[in-house]
Amino acid sequence: MAKSIGTCALIVHGGAGAIGPANERANRKRGMLEAVRRGAAILRRGGSALDAVTASVTALEDDPLFNAGYGSLLNSEGAVEMDASVMVARPQADGRIGLHAGAVAAITRVKNPVLLARAVMEKTGHLLMAGPAAERFARKAGIPLCRAEDLISERARERWRARMQRENRANLVAERAQAHGTVGAVALDVHGQLAAATSTGGVPGKMAGRVGDSALIGAGVYADAVGAASATGHGEAIIMSALCREAVRLLGRSTPTRAAQLAITRLIAPQGAEAGIVLIDTGGRIGYAHNADSMEVGTFHSAKGISHRRAAPNAAKPRG
Ligand code: ASP
Repeated sequence: MAKSIGTCALIVHGGAGAIGPANERANRKRGMLEAVRRGAAILRRGGSALDAVTASVTALEDDPLFNAGYGSLLNSEGAVEMDASVMVARPQADGRIGLHAGAVAAITRVKNPVLLARAVMEKTGHLLMAGPAAERFARKAGIPLCRAEDLISERARERWRARMQRENRANLVAERAQAHGTVGAVALDVHGQLAAATSTGGVPGKMAGRVGDSALIGAGVYADAVGAASATGHGEAIIMSALCREAVRLLGRSTPTRAAQLAITRLIAPQGAEAGIVLIDTGGRIGYAHNADSMEVGTFHSAKGISHRRAAPNAAKPRG
């Protein structure tokens, strides 16, 4: 008989936005499921939520079909600049919950920015590091650097060229609505630890130097004694509403699905924006919501196993 384990759960997202090309769907699903399996394997053997979200996000950063790590979108100058973050809420011996976080912004030479965000959390007294100095720190932390051009996939370069050919403001706004592929993961482990991680190449057409929500604790990522969250979508709207922090606060009164729906409907839709969020509470209950065309999620629950969904919108569409 299989040994039973305590409650543990994981939800991974692959970005909210357009449904995406049909010919990429099967491989994207495969990539999502592989990311969930890697995280789930860690949770099943009693590993930490932090290790699980890091493993899941790393898998998607390495997959060129997602807008994070290798395969990130290119900025208006044709370069990759990535943001990533992690946060953990860890029960301590004295019964209190220890909160820890780390993030990086505008990273150009690290294949797995989520590992660098984790190193900022674990090896520095800081919360957020940016640019070339953060990359120098990566080397010291034992995270290998690559050449900036090694992160540019053929798919990302083609998309950038196509955009440059027809660039004007109207097109950029339309494309932003279609963007998808940012990745994130949220987990609860059998020890009661909650963790969340997010990683992105940003939004299409972004200026060089633009930093989005995925680097900002409380906006694109959050975890505390009540729950944990990772967001995707229009970063400026997510930052303005501190989306993940607010959604976790709503968990106190609502189920994760309801909290996710309320957060998008009340905080994102009125800004005329699209976003998605995934959540887990301390009971291992999973929730997600978005108001884009589609959001891909993969889940694992100790009592239910692994599943994948290309979720239809379940929150209010952008207003105004
Ligand atoms: N939120 C990301 C950003 O604004 C993009 C996305 O999730 O698609 O950088």
